[in-house]
Parts: sequence; structure tokens; C-alpha cells
Amino acid sequence: MGEQGVGQPDGLDRLWTPHRMAYVKGDNRPPEGYGRPSGCPFCLAPQRPEDEGLVVARGESVFAVLNLYPYNPGHLMICPYRHVADYTDLDEAETVELARFTQRAMRVIRSVSGAHGFNLGMNQGELAGAGIAAHLHQHVVPRWGGDTNFMPVIGRTKVLPQLLADTRSLLAAAWEG
Ligand SMILES: [Zn+2]
Repeated sequence: MGEQGVGQPDGLDRLWTPHRMAYVKGDNRPPEGYGRPSGCPFCLAPQRPEDEGLVVARGESVFAVLNLYPYNPGHLMICPYRHVADYTDLDEAETVELARFTQRAMRVIRSVSGAHGFNLGMNQGELAGAGIAAHLHQHVVPRWGGDTNFMPVIGRTKVLPQLLADTRSLLAAAWEG
């Protein structure tokens, strides 16, 4: 029960007591499935209060939102507001803004956490691993050497919803700044 092994202190490190293990996964899947906008988490997120929807930044045609099931702290997704599935469905403005938001997300995450690298990408279709295939989302996943600095540290736990809300606030402030 110590503070050892937490690595270089930085904004996300202080906030995040990383732990997918501690996450009690509720089954939030709506009865009608994710296919329709009424049950689609990416359609609903921008309509919810910030601490619930976890939207970090809002653009004209796309937004950035924290992943509820993060691979790493700061795992963001960039989504069009429109409920479209395929990358080729994006219009010109969405394509450009999605790219700009991806760049901005990388800069913001680097500025608060000193991420060493990133995984960027989109899974197209359930076959390719998309959890919610009906609504396009580009993952921005920060990576650190070994990613082991962010494994669970017993005794420093904070419930994940609060952690995600704090992470959202941190990133949103940096995004604005
Ligand atoms: Zn949707």
C-alpha cells in the first residue's frame, strides 16, 4: 500500500488509478441494440451532462469523448455527430474536422500526460472489431513505455466514474487552453 511504482508524476498519472480490473462492467446495451440513434451511445453522449456524457470537446460536425472502457487513461474517441457507420459516409467537413480533432487530441494528451506514443484508428464493421459498428469513431489511445505505470495500485483507488469525470475535466481544460 504505497506510492511506489507510479512513475513520473504528471496530470493523468495523479488522477488515474488505472484499473480496468476495478471496473464493474454493467451491461448498458439497450434492448433495441446500438444500431439506432435512440440507443446509440455516440448519439446520446453529446446530449448528456458533461460528467456523464464525458464529452471533452465539441466541434462543428465532430466531437471528442472519453471511452467508458479505456485501454489507457486518456483514451479518447473522435466521432461525427451524425449517426453514420462507414468512413466513406463522412462528408468533406466531417473528414477534415475529424482529422483536425485527432491532431488536437494528441497534442492535448501529450501536454497533460507526456504520452510516449499513440494508437490511432477506426474499426470498420463488427467483423473488424468495432464494438459499436453503427456509429463511426476514431480511437486515440495514448501509450507509455510498457504501459505498466498505469496498472492498478491497491490502496489508491477512486471509483471509475469519478476518475473519468476528473480526466474529462483535465482534458477539456487543456483542449480549451
Ligand atoms: Zn449514433
